[in-house]
Amino acid sequence: MTISTENQTSYLFQGNVTAPGSQVVSGKGIHVDIEKDGVVYENVLDAVTGAAVGALAWGDEDVFEIMDKAARESTYQYPSLISNKSAEELAKFYIDNSEGAFCSALWCCSGSESNENALRIIRQYYLERGLPNKVKLISRESSYHGFTLGAQSLSWNPRIAPFEPYLMDRKNVNIKISCAYTYRYKKKTETEEDYTHRLLQELETKIVENDPDTIAAVTVETLPGSSLGTTPPPKGYLKGIRALCTKYDIIFHLDEVMCGTGRCNPNGRLNCWENYLEPSEAPDIQTVGKTLGSGYVTIAGVLIGPKIRNAYVQGSGAIAGGHTYSCHSFNCAVALGVQKKIKKENLTSNMFKMGNLLAEKLKDVLLAYDNIAGDVRGVGGFQSIEFVKDRNTKEAFDISLNVGPRFKAICFENGLCVMGMPANPDGSCSDRALLAPSFVINERDVDEIVEKTNKSVKELSDILK
Ligand code: PLP
Repeated sequence: MTISTENQTSYLFQGNVTAPGSQVVSGKGIHVDIEKDGVVYENVLDAVTGAAVGALAWGDEDVFEIMDKAARESTYQYPSLISNKSAEELAKFYIDNSEGAFCSALWCCSGSESNENALRIIRQYYLERGLPNKVKLISRESSYHGFTLGAQSLSWNPRIAPFEPYLMDRKNVNIKISCAYTYRYKKKTETEEDYTHRLLQELETKIVENDPDTIAAVTVETLPGSSLGTTPPPKGYLKGIRALCTKYDIIFHLDEVMCGTGRCNPNGRLNCWENYLEPSEAPDIQTVGKTLGSGYVTIAGVLIGPKIRNAYVQGSGAIAGGHTYSCHSFNCAVALGVQKKIKKENLTSNMFKMGNLLAEKLKDVLLAYDNIAGDVRGVGGFQSIEFVKDRNTKEAFDISLNVGPRFKAICFENGLCVMGMPANPDGSCSDRALLAPSFVINERDVDEIVEKTNKSVKELSDILK
């Protein structure tokens, strides 16, 4: 076979390998320049920071200084054998700012990797306790925990189905419960509390049916982002899961890779669950990523509570193996610098205020259309628009219309970056757009996002008529 790269538009095996790709050229503040089909689109307002990654603005001079210092001070050593000061300091920073919930951390390079590590840590936790039969994992339909095979097993949407031969056995190991999706699945006759009760009853039934002595963990996103469109947990839901996990000796694992590390907090705190749970109800293990390094470094992590750490300390004390690049000193030093700057400048509180203002203004303009926008929802800097054909029935658009990705393309032409997600092929979730801007936005930026979103929704609505 002759191999020719002459007509290739990209040398990367990602995204759409047949279509011309776009490339980011530079970023300044909350704006980016992006080249697409040979044209540079200047000053595009980045309202989603890639994938809810950016906390600080692009081109931040303070971060460049932190990076310069970190590069000069970094010396690589294999982390399982020799630790480093910046990894330790970052762990202490996160632990000190988590209401006593955690006592250990492991830093890795992506959210998927953090969830893989969480699974491995949970498995060894039960082995340390002499409970080798606790192997089953409970997670939700319509969830997203990453793109590696373990994380993909925890996740679910119909597009994952063809990968099933490589995923964990959905009957015996990888048990699924319904997602918590108030907008779409709370019945009209139910109160929010009734809906929570129904979801928790389903969970308890699954636990009992599958034998609690064989169940290792329940994993949920505190506030699902790309999978369901920033749908907050119904009242009492996370508290109920916590209580069931305690009752049946099951690990409670929260995935805060997208919603965590300050994106959704009113008070400068780091953990999204603090909006819903008391410190005494904290997860036993939590995964984080994205805003931790604000896109300047590839860093994610696993935060481990005392219950798990104690089992290791009282057991073998040893974790066999590790990753070459876990707890990388440069990544940790930059992430620590980023987090200290966010804290010093009170940027999470700013994000919470500006994000909620954005949601209010979006609701005002978008819900004025007859249809198209069914719901605008979210918390702080994590907001979504759900598109529907009919607001009363919540009927989704036909999947072939590709409404979410089309909306993203229209926004881009109007100088705005958002994430556009398609509906699930089985109708379980309709098209959505995600907005997750940088924590530094001000009221003028909010108005620009609203104006460009509104213009794009109008254009989309005209096309779909
Ligand atoms: N968990 C959640 C909730 C996510 O939203 C994501 C990514 O979007 C991941 C895990 C995977 O993170 P990564 O893409 O860094 O592997």
